[in-house]
Amino acid sequence: MPESPRMVPLYIARVADLGIARFVAITCRHCGHVAEIAVVHLRERLPRDSFVKYLGPQLRCRQCHHKGAKVDARSALGYYG
Ligand SMILES: [Zn+2]
Repeated sequence: MPESPRMVPLYIARVADLGIARFVAITCRHCGHVAEIAVVHLRERLPRDSFVKYLGPQLRCRQCHHKGAKVDARSALGYYG
């Protein structure tokens, strides 16, 4: 597993740690709908020091309109290179 000093564990990752050209995968906890949000979009709307793990409960599903989603920011944090 490749390791780089820039890789931040998910539980302490903040919006500022996400790669600007990347996407965060969001999965609806109700219907399982998967969406991707551009990091550049999150950076525009959220303070740089917001914790990524707290984003999920604030997000609303575009398909079923339920609030609360699972956030997968591993790719945006550079886990897959
Ligand atoms: Zn949904």
